[in-house]
Amino acid sequence: MSNKIKIGDTIYVSKFGSRQFRIDCPVCFGKKVIGLILGNDNVVEMSCDYCRHEGLGSPATGYITEWRRDAGTEKVCISEIRSRQTAVGEEVEYLAGSRIYYMEDVFSTEAAALAESEHRATKYNLEQETKAEFVKGKPDKNYSWNAGYHMRAIKNANQKIEYHSKMAKICKARAKGKE
Ligand SMILES: [Zn+2]
Repeated sequence: MSNKIKIGDTIYVSKFGSRQFRIDCPVCFGKKVIGLILGNDNVVEMSCDYCRHEGLGSPATGYITEWRRDAGTEKVCISEIRSRQTAVGEEVEYLAGSRIYYMEDVFSTEAAALAESEHRATKYNLEQETKAEFVKGKPDKNYSWNAGYHMRAIKNANQKIEYHSKMAKICKARAKGKE
């Protein structure tokens, strides 16, 4: 914004409002489970890691929380102007009481401040959405490791069942032999 702003002027500042909200998990789409296709085309279903909020062992929730920005402006009266020369040009700080505003956030009309704020909010929100799109195509690589871990655990458990079933049969047979 221009240097025409003087002490005592009322100016408009581009502001961001923040809002936290829930969206469906971009990995499991709210289903809380995902399928991993193995090399032999078997599909292993497992709990979604991406929407688990409280670390390992806690259940998947099916949603994630994101921040959204809302455009807005603030009207302030300038009480002090600080300016200094730097290698990249002049840097100006506008003060209203103890609060400092920078050249790029300060406008002489509300419409201009709002336009800039809307532009930034749109850009920020788009970045958030793109991030979600990116995640969809590239889920956490830990999934395949987790699948391997669980499948090994199943195999071990099955082997134990087999062993204990065999032992139970032998014991039964021996008990019968004694009768
Ligand atoms: Zn999920």
